[in-house]
Amino acid sequence: MADEKRIKLARVKCPTCKVNLLVKPSVKVCPACRGPLPKLQKVDRVDYELAKAWHKTAVESKKAGKDSSDALKKAAASLEGAAKWSGNKLLEGAQASADAVTKVGTGAAKGVKAGSEEVEKWVKDIGDGLEDLGRKL
Ligand SMILES: [Zn+2]
Repeated sequence: MADEKRIKLARVKCPTCKVNLLVKPSVKVCPACRGPLPKLQKVDRVDYELAKAWHKTAVESKKAGKDSSDALKKAAASLEGAAKWSGNKLLEGAQASADAVTKVGTGAAKGVKAGSEEVEKWVKDIGDGLEDLGRKL
């Protein structure tokens, strides 16, 4: 995997013309105005940071006794995005929990509240997945 060449795209906002760009990290000037671009942030990193923030929100809601499935859903989606963009696989447990949490409140499961034991497991699994992926990015 390490020597495999992967093209990663980066999200960046041009400081000169304020256009949002999705470019290869090797691109150093804005394609629109030719102005210099700041250090690029890789998409997988952006998603990873989002996943971390949403996971933290989920943990805090859980502690406060609130429903954390929405924050967990967003954490799971961002975590999956980070894994996809970086070409990594999620830990098995993290993937299973991400799949499970994504289904909460949709389709046949609509209106079904996740039990606290389930939420506990998802928070842990997605946290483990974050930690694992963080080492690979
Ligand atoms: Zn520009």
